[in-house]
Amino acid sequence: MLRFASLGSGSRGNATLVQGGDTLVLVDCGFPLKELRWRCALVGVDPCAIDAIFVTHEHGDHTRGVGPVARALGVPVWMGHGTWLARDYGALPDRNLFNSHDGSIRVGELWIEPVTVPHDARDPAQFVIEYRDRRLGLLTDLGSHTPYIVTRYRQLDALLLECNHDPVMLSNGPYPPALQARVSGDYGHLNNDQAADFLRRIDHASLHHLVVGHLSEKNNRPELASQTLCRAVPDIAARLALLVQDQVSAWFELGDS
Ligand SMILES: [Zn+2]
Ligand SMILES: [Zn+2]
Repeated sequence: MLRFASLGSGSRGNATLVQGGDTLVLVDCGFPLKELRWRCALVGVDPCAIDAIFVTHEHGDHTRGVGPVARALGVPVWMGHGTWLARDYGALPDRNLFNSHDGSIRVGELWIEPVTVPHDARDPAQFVIEYRDRRLGLLTDLGSHTPYIVTRYRQLDALLLECNHDPVMLSNGPYPPALQARVSGDYGHLNNDQAADFLRRIDHASLHHLVVGHLSEKNNRPELASQTLCRAVPDIAARLALLVQDQVSAWFELGDS
């Protein structure tokens, strides 16, 4: 079985557990060690079972805990070259750097493919993760989608997709103009309409789970995100789940086909 759970999603911290068979990886670690421990406990995971940490990009909401957690658990870390150069993680016990165009990385029973995305970081990547014939796509922290991303995210069984903001709420919201421009720009974050457009472009009929994440707490509302997605793809409603910043999700499971 391939399964995944969000330990938190949004600008105050991100971390996602992905498990295929006996292999468990943590994608991003925006939480301190102590917090990661209790968040893992809520989904029944001993952090010592984590086989590797994969890092999407250097922003603090994805990396705050990477160094401390890797050192405490003695776990290997994988990230792009630019992500390593962009931030001081301290010494890592087992540091592995990838080029996003070099194809999939194997960790135990999982194959993890980095996919370059447009975001205002040095070397931002997101991941498509395979276990046997099941495919999970993780896609947050991108300002726009590209034909390349659409191609890489084909034939997924599950997708965790960013719906960061509602464009009207962002423009009427509390952010200063420069930050609004950053968030809504091509290298910022995906808004609800862009996410819906992306969903239309991939073969969404095969999705068992569409999990919506990285919602802005100030510039979006969960019902706006789900309404926009359901308008674009009406039959997605039964397969849709929304992540909340401070809540650990349930496990989303994909049985062997
Ligand atoms: Zn982020
Ligand atoms: Zn980011």
